[in-house]
Order: sequence, then C-alpha cells, then structure tokens
Amino acid sequence: MTPVPDIILNNGQPIPQLGFGVFLIRPEETAEAVSTALETGYRHIDTAEMYGNEREVGEAIAKSGLSRGDVFVTSKLNNGSHRPEDARQAFSQTLEALGFDYVDMFLIHWPLPMKYGGDFVSTWETLAEFYREGRARSIGVSNFQAHHLRRLHAQSDVPPAVNQIEISPYLTQDDLRVFCIEHQIAVEAWSPLAKGGELLVDPEVRRIANETGKTPAQVVLRWHVERGDIVFPKSVKPARIRENFDIFDFELSGDDVAAISALDRDQRTGPDPDTFTG
Ligand code: NDP
Repeated sequence: MTPVPDIILNNGQPIPQLGFGVFLIRPEETAEAVSTALETGYRHIDTAEMYGNEREVGEAIAKSGLSRGDVFVTSKLNNGSHRPEDARQAFSQTLEALGFDYVDMFLIHWPLPMKYGGDFVSTWETLAEFYREGRARSIGVSNFQAHHLRRLHAQSDVPPAVNQIEISPYLTQDDLRVFCIEHQIAVEAWSPLAKGGELLVDPEVRRIANETGKTPAQVVLRWHVERGDIVFPKSVKPARIRENFDIFDFELSGDDVAAISALDRDQRTGPDPDTFTG
C-alpha cells in the first residue's frame, strides 16, 4: 500500500496526514481497535483525556512492538482544566495514562470563550511550558475560530502548530482554513466523514465513488487529503479501519473535488465553538 505522506508543521516536526481517531471508542474496545489500526499501517493516533481511553491507547502502542518514536500521538486538555495549575496536573496525568514521557502533540480541546473569563491565553502559555520542556513535541489548539487565533497571535510568542476543527463536505470551513494556511497553522479535520450517516449516501459522493471504484468514505477522505488537511477517521470495525487507510492509490479530478466542495451547507455535527461551555 502507498505510504501515508507527512505534513511538516511550522516547527519542522512531521505528522502523518492520515491517522486514527478514538473518540467514542469504549475503553474496553480501544486497545483492539488501535492494534488493528497499527497493524494496518496507521502511525498517528488522535485521543483526548475527554475520551477516557488514553490508557488503552498507550497499552496498544506498547504492545505493538513499534518504537515510541514510530507513532505520532496527540492528546488534548479537558475543558475542566484550563487554569494553569489544573492544566499542569492534567497534562502529567495524560502522560501517566499513556505511559509516555512525551506526547507528539497536545491541544487545548475547546477555547471556551464564555468560561474562565474568556482567558484561553494563560492556558496556551501553560501548554508552551510543556513544549519548552520537551514533554509536548508540538502544541496546538482545537475548535479555535479566526478571532481566537488572532488573540493568541497578538498575545503569545508561540504559534499553534495545528488547529483541529470540524470539517466535512457539508462544512467546508473555507474562511477559517484560509486563515490557518496564511498563518502557517496546519489544519486538522475532525469528524471527516461527518460521523458516517447521510454524507456517505449523498448522491454526488456515491456517483464519484462509482466512477472511481472506491467507497464513499474513501472518496470523502481523499477529498480532505487533496485539500491538504490532516484527518483521523474513527471506526471500531476492522474492515473499515483498513478501508479508510486505503486512499493513496487514486486521485480525484479537479471537477470531482469541486463537486464535493459544492456540497457545503455549513452544517455542524458538533457544538459552536463560540458558545460551547464544555
Ligand atoms: P468520523 O467522521 O470519523 O466518523 C466516524 C463514524 O463513521 C463512526 O460511526 C463509524 O462507525 C463510521 N465509519 C467509519 N468509517 C466508515 C466507513 N468506511 N464506512 C461507513 N461508516 C464509517 O467521526 P468522529 O467524530 O469519530 O471523528 C474522527 C476523530 O476526530 C475522532 O475519533 C476524534 O479523534 C476527532 N474528533 C475531535 C473533536 C474535537 O473537538 N477536537 C470532536 C470530534 C472528533 P463504526 O465505528 O461503527 O465503523
């Protein structure tokens, strides 16, 4: 199978463009799902304290026989731990649960502008400590809007390496993506398949799937990759874990990419980052 390309982050660190997401995988199912992903060839796992399965992610990696340095692991600061002292404790617990002495990427999970007096900058500066200490090889944010990023830019010397935001053909996020790209912040697309469901039976997606001989999920993941975004679809089904990995042996035409982008309806599956309170 064709290898997964790396994206080079603004601090020079490479990240595999395709990873495996473990949101809503129950802890007792996580080690097996992650083991299947690693056997398939995934070398990037996206977890979070909120998902309750960091320990099982770490166990599967330890058991895989791979070196720690072969797998890129992201975790995220939970919404209740934004105050600097809480963030330090939460980060240590994340490392302990994973069984690692560093993570490849650590993110602020949500900006929570309506909590903590709207102060996500102090939280960010705390992540910058972890970065300087080498315990987080890169740091970034998730669910940040352009105006949140502008504030970080104005008030901190450390730029986020990524912004992990909801993106799918039904929510193309063109303006926010352009902002990130212009500011050298790599874009990570969460829920890239719009959580399964109606996107995967959309007539336009199915037409392109028929024409390319790939599945609707593969077509949608390929669309993300051709736009340059980083993706980590989730599945607990081994056949789908393999299917979602098999997207580097075909290309979409420019017309197909445009046709999929035209499906945009500004439709979120998750909360609005400007009002979400955790
Ligand atoms: P996805 O868009 O990855 O969709 C997952 C759903 O689609 C599951 O129900 C899965 O079912 C189904 N599915 C997966 N592959 C296929 C396939 N080939 N054909 C048909 N159905 C399929 O949604 P997620 O919300 O899980 O997002 C992916 C990752 O993004 C998360 O795991 C997490 O790492 C991250 N994320 C981050 C957020 C943030 O706030 N930063 C928020 C949400 C997600 P099944 O398991 O039964 O196969």
